[in-house]
Amino acid sequence: MAGMEQTLLLVKPDGVHRNLVGEVLARIERKGYVIADLKMLTATTEILSEHYSEHREKPFFADLLKYMSVGPVVAAVIEGSRVVEGVRSLSGSTEPTMAAPGTIRGDLGRDWGNGQIENIVHSSDSPESAEREIAIWFK
Ligand code: UDP
Ligand code: MG
Repeated sequence: MAGMEQTLLLVKPDGVHRNLVGEVLARIERKGYVIADLKMLTATTEILSEHYSEHREKPFFADLLKYMSVGPVVAAVIEGSRVVEGVRSLSGSTEPTMAAPGTIRGDLGRDWGNGQIENIVHSSDSPESAEREIAIWFK
């Protein structure tokens, strides 16, 4: 369909551990987006290095990979018109303490005082990123 778009959503290990998979997916579905593909896996260092390649040189990279591989994640392909922007908007800003109430990160996330930004979800930041990331997680 014209204008139809896909994005990658991850429920990160903290979201899975806190039993928030249903809550997150329900918000996506209630917004009217379609779950086109879905799976649970524990991510390898290889997949995470590829996924977060833009952050490879960042000081938080090693801790980010540790956080992301501590337990299973749920990976989903979400479909709809302008879904990349839409799911970013539903996710909220990166830092959960300051993410807007009403967003996934703003409603469900917080700083746990462990030095790690645990923010429950990942969502692709552009259609180009979405295409690249979907190819990584669903090959
Ligand atoms: N992150 C972190 N420390 C930082 C910045 C980011 O641990 O100072 C983690 C956090 O989990 C974030 C991910 O790295 O979600 C990717 O960072 P990005 O800036 O791309 O944020 P996002 O696109 O997830 O909002
Ligand atoms: Mg990002």
